Amino acid sequence: MKEKLEEIRKRGLEKIDGAKSTEELQDIRRELTGKKSELSEVTKSMSSLSIEMRKEVGLQTTEIRNIFETTLNKKEEELISSKSVLDEPIDLTIPGTKVGSGVLHPVTQMCYDLNDAFLSLGFEVFSEDDISSEKFVFDNLNFASDHPARQMMDTYWIEGTEDKKANERLCLRPHLTGASVRYLLKHGAPARFVYPGRVYRNEDIDSGHERAFFQYEALIVDKNISFSSGIVMIQTILEKVFGRKINIRMREGFFPFVEPGYEIDMECLVCGGKGCKVCKHNGWIEVMPGGVIHPNVLKSAGLDPDEWTGFYINIGLERLVMMRYGVDDVRLFHSADLRFLNQFK
Ligand SMILES: [Zn+2]
Repeated sequence: MKEKLEEIRKRGLEKIDGAKSTEELQDIRRELTGKKSELSEVTKSMSSLSIEMRKEVGLQTTEIRNIFETTLNKKEEELISSKSVLDEPIDLTIPGTKVGSGVLHPVTQMCYDLNDAFLSLGFEVFSEDDISSEKFVFDNLNFASDHPARQMMDTYWIEGTEDKKANERLCLRPHLTGASVRYLLKHGAPARFVYPGRVYRNEDIDSGHERAFFQYEALIVDKNISFSSGIVMIQTILEKVFGRKINIRMREGFFPFVEPGYEIDMECLVCGGKGCKVCKHNGWIEVMPGGVIHPNVLKSAGLDPDEWTGFYINIGLERLVMMRYGVDDVRLFHSADLRFLNQFK
């Protein structure tokens, strides 16, 4: 019996050594250690042996089985690591793994498009923090001390600073214009720059209004800025964004930081001027207020109003995107609804 087992061991190890592939090794494993293997046959026939012999043969079969397992595993590793990917024929008909990808949010994309347009006109892109102060969002901009926008109902004041004044009374910026003075104080004039960002208003939400939304403001300050250079700026931007000439109209508008001020409307592209929910059924959309920078604002920025003049425009980014794609509800932009956002891929 001992000789027979020794023979099984020797032949088994030779077979393992000669295996050429993992598939072949799989068959050898079954042959050497499976239920129908010679080792299993020996174990089954042990009942006819004496107790002494049974013990000895039992130990020997277990030892051989262990040797087989170890050697088989080692050989398997060898075969796997030496295997080249080119050994397998490549099946070009198998579908590839689909890589998921996202896109820029349409408001971000609009902002980048405008940045490109303004950079090509020689403007600089400037940004400031979302938290500003009463001094920058109201005082510097010629807002009267009793202006309603200063009240709680329009502006989100930061808790604990409501009773303070000027630089110490903090808020989420309700508009971007404060950044214009910050920039001018730092860089002086002449200047041409844009400052995109999110602004916050404490107001009721409906299809045309959100509590947080994106604005885009541009300002030119120089010695001889005419009103017509402001118009050219507006038309250039709209043409760049919409790829064609857009009808605009200007109405007189009042904003503390401009004199004179304008409301610039563009024809509603959702309805083509016929009237719809977005344009409140009058065919025109207020896209930007603008105007000539007020002398008091120039003074806040440390500039002499007799020497310098400037022109502001302020664009609502969501409104522009709504016009560009015919979206009729501003709330969709912040809804995080992928069914909506995936349409911009
Ligand atoms: Zn409309």
